[in-house]
Amino acid sequence: MPGEPAAPGGPGVIVRENPARLGEVVGRVPAAGPAQVDRAVRDAESAQRAWRELPAEERAEILRKAADTVDAMAGTDVLMARETGKPLADCAGELRFAAAYLRWVAEKAPAALADRETDDDAGRLVLRRRPYGVVAAITPWNAPVILALLKVGPALAAGNTVVVKPSPLAPLAVTRVLEAFRPGLVRVVHGGAATARHLAGHPGVHRVAFTGGSAAGRAIGAAAAEAVTPVLLELGGNDPVVLLDDADLTSAAMERLVMASFATAGQVCMAAKRLYAPRSRLAEVHEAYVAAAERVLVLGDPLDAGTTVGPVISAEAAERVRALIADAAGRGGTVTALGAVRADMERGHFVRPALVTDVPDDAPVVAGEQFGPVVPLLAYDDEDEVAVRANAGDLGLGASVWSADEERAFAFARRFDAGFTFVNTHNRTGMALRAPFGGVKRSGHGREYGVEGLLEYAQTCAVHAPAAFRAGGAGMGAGAYPT
Ligand code: NAD
Repeated sequence: MPGEPAAPGGPGVIVRENPARLGEVVGRVPAAGPAQVDRAVRDAESAQRAWRELPAEERAEILRKAADTVDAMAGTDVLMARETGKPLADCAGELRFAAAYLRWVAEKAPAALADRETDDDAGRLVLRRRPYGVVAAITPWNAPVILALLKVGPALAAGNTVVVKPSPLAPLAVTRVLEAFRPGLVRVVHGGAATARHLAGHPGVHRVAFTGGSAAGRAIGAAAAEAVTPVLLELGGNDPVVLLDDADLTSAAMERLVMASFATAGQVCMAAKRLYAPRSRLAEVHEAYVAAAERVLVLGDPLDAGTTVGPVISAEAAERVRALIADAAGRGGTVTALGAVRADMERGHFVRPALVTDVPDDAPVVAGEQFGPVVPLLAYDDEDEVAVRANAGDLGLGASVWSADEERAFAFARRFDAGFTFVNTHNRTGMALRAPFGGVKRSGHGREYGVEGLLEYAQTCAVHAPAAFRAGGAGMGAGAYPT
């Protein structure tokens, strides 16, 4: 894999190449061996002792200052676009969204994480939100900044310090962003799988937060389990989209649907990955979809204005996606190339966006997460049938239902095995800072965003004085159960 250190786990240098311009080096970071990881965890441990004692409002203030720095990068920084291949406007959007999230955490965390005290006839009970200590954040390349700050923001707000291990495929922009935090609160270690496992299993780490693919998630979970460290896992998805028979196929809706699949060249956990349309409207949907793609999809260099789809992240990814398309064609599927091409296809890992039709449900492009610029359009005959097909497989991250009737859409939404269901949209246009996001089934456990995302970084500890033993209390037998 490009970017992985030559000697994983040992000292070395990670070199990141621009996936849109092969041979162009974007930057280098030092790879951390076990000794550097140990050092980072030790430093984070000692910084945490003072940090957790600060009033919550003071901690929130640091997040607000960091948000300003992240915002300021949004209009100027091209590092993320050059290392990930994501269009410049998308990268700026991610930075602004990340800044907005930090401000949201700063506003909500002090109250959400405050002690709760009850003093009544049953006694006095204080529930204290205690930080874990050092949090390890292990993150993927595809949204390198927001996926790190979704962990760093609430972890710091709750009084933890953090060691971040970014993906070796996009280590540069996130490292620059994390410099916005007061030295000591957030440490960054670079490396691949071995570095990630060493960090996740480190005895000085008391909480692990991981976003990435299923295979890596299993390895991280196993390493953390050895140390009895709790893990939050945000893994892959194979999101179904169900267009009900009354769905509005307006130009705007279809453009939204197209971008839901092809933003970041389809490499998004919550991308629209399988499209189900009523058989009676299949031709109409196909035509409207291809026309919308013609309007919004421009494959090109991420730094060119007007590009909406960049290259995929690596040669391996391009190869894998091309193989999925070839497999679909081999099964009798029809492949329709989408959008405009302004890319020099040979210069980077470019794959032309494609829609495939007439493929069976067991084709790999339907049954698994394609994580690339190809999407299948499938016909269904009735709602019971499509609900079953939508829920097939192990994954349950996102889903969407599209209908002119919101009540009908919300009623259908209850049928999905999904952690997040979008109505009349899908992917990032359907997110909200207050709405918890995460998977069911094998898409992971734990939540990011929302108050639930804050509570992931503190453990509730109780202090209790039963009324029976307080001055004037009725008392209780030494071995009795409370009633
Ligand atoms: P990845 O799993 O290859 O890498 C994620 C992180 O794990 C990186 O830091 C990487 O260095 C590390 N890693 C890789 N292999 C490892 C191993 N064997 N043991 C320990 N650590 C390992 O994922 P990626 O290619 O960077 O991202 C794509 C995947 O992430 C997709 O499956 C996507 O759906 C998922 N994802 C999920 C969410 C979510 O919120 N649920 C968000 C974004 C991406």
